Amino acid sequence: MNATVVFLNGEVITVDNNDAVKQAIAISGNKIIAVGSTVEIEQLIDSNTKVIDLNGKTLMPGLIDAHLHLVPYGVNQLSISCKDPAILSIEDLLTAISERVKTTSKGNWIRAWGYNEKFIKEQRYPTLQELDAISTDHPIIINRTCGHIGIANSAALKLAKIDEHTPNPQGGIIEKDSLGRLTGRLMENSFMRFNEFARYTPEELEQAMQIAQQHFIEKGITSIHDAGTFDQESFRLMQLASHRSDLKIRIYAMIGTVNDCKQFTLNMLKAGVVTGTGNDFFKIGPAKLFTDGSSTGPTIATREGYTSNPNDCGILYYSEEELYEVLGEAHKRGYQVTVHAQGDKAIEMYLNVIERALKESPRDNHRHRIEHAGISTPDLQARMKELQMIPIPNPPFPYEFGESYLQDYGERTNFMYPARDFIDQGVIAAAGSDAPVTSYDPFLGIHTSVNREVKSGIPFGQQQQITLLEAIRLYTYNAAYASFDEQIKGSLEVGKLADLIVLDRSILSTKSSNIKDIGVELTMIDGEVVYEQSYSVI
Ligand SMILES: [Zn+2]
Repeated sequence: MNATVVFLNGEVITVDNNDAVKQAIAISGNKIIAVGSTVEIEQLIDSNTKVIDLNGKTLMPGLIDAHLHLVPYGVNQLSISCKDPAILSIEDLLTAISERVKTTSKGNWIRAWGYNEKFIKEQRYPTLQELDAISTDHPIIINRTCGHIGIANSAALKLAKIDEHTPNPQGGIIEKDSLGRLTGRLMENSFMRFNEFARYTPEELEQAMQIAQQHFIEKGITSIHDAGTFDQESFRLMQLASHRSDLKIRIYAMIGTVNDCKQFTLNMLKAGVVTGTGNDFFKIGPAKLFTDGSSTGPTIATREGYTSNPNDCGILYYSEEELYEVLGEAHKRGYQVTVHAQGDKAIEMYLNVIERALKESPRDNHRHRIEHAGISTPDLQARMKELQMIPIPNPPFPYEFGESYLQDYGERTNFMYPARDFIDQGVIAAAGSDAPVTSYDPFLGIHTSVNREVKSGIPFGQQQQITLLEAIRLYTYNAAYASFDEQIKGSLEVGKLADLIVLDRSILSTKSSNIKDIGVELTMIDGEVVYEQSYSVI
């Protein structure tokens, strides 16, 4: 068989069983037909073959982000970004919001995202009064960087039917001051529910998905494991966009939403749509629940109090029994299951649930996952191995948030997202960015996996450093494994889907301190070039 496209003279990182590095690869249609030396691959060229000279640059499997949120990432791009380097203080943010108000008709939402009080001059949240001073005619919401906490103005609280008499929902806090007045701050489940009232239009959601996809493929991401849209409406629109091929990126969609996750998951279980249903472009993933809060809040559930406040052990969304009722049942019915679990207490509780479910209903090859698996101490790692769980750590988290982790969790940071331990223990882990929580750039994730340094250069649990090829595996083969797809993607081998990327340099000869600067020149999904910066055609 002759090739439709060949790439020659490169550094082809295959991520096969032997981590072989070859020179060239041949594609026919949407499949890989050969991987080998340039001389071998040249045999497959005929007059119709497109020949691309890599000039020593790296070609590798398309990257798979095993945990991010396509729709929430996309809609943020339509809003005010608090991560904008120009926003350094509350005053800067309030000015940006005031500008938006001027061009937004009354009654329409003003949204900001990515707020982190730790990076802001005043080191606090904006107040309800400050937001009301800008507008009481526009609902305003500021989404914290973690997506678990928000600050709303009076108009927004009114729309969400929240007043000083509204009780806290389970696993959530509607914050009040010492006089019982609302502060505007909504935490965890109360914020998640609030999102129900702050909906986007279908047009905004469509636009958001397109922007998100474009950003992802420009950084070499060819598949994502979507960790939750807002609600059933955005879940439906995401599927339709994929079926229309408006979304070319492959999606493994977890059964879970940001808004009222438990109800959505229960509805899906009741409807009987199981993990694995779909095709190579859109497939139903694991049933998912949240068990605890945000690593930077900090609101994660820990077994011992925070280093920064020993009286605080975070927030648990459910009791073990409640978690078992949903996920034990999902396991029995043949679903892959997963939870958002960041703190060691949340992870332990979830492992108890899985252990019990497996005892009552043994099942091989279940591939149950743990999203984040933040504080994974050696005792928990051993149980993950025993139960054959797949943790999905977030390598870029320490880069952005490492300093606050060191303050909040102290020594426990040595076991945060412990990729080295997972590999040494034989636990199969895959990596996710959790965008929009942190940067979706997989090269930043690979960089931090290799270097384990905070952005400022402070070391962060460096005994957990892994090699470059190990880090690439977390973003390729292992991520494919976590969605039962390792037979069709995740490595460059004959018969697999032609999902691949070309980098702007040789990654193997890049200094480890420069990995984060690597760019992508070409992204191919299903044999089709979906993004192309520049390359030379012979
Ligand atoms: Zn997430």
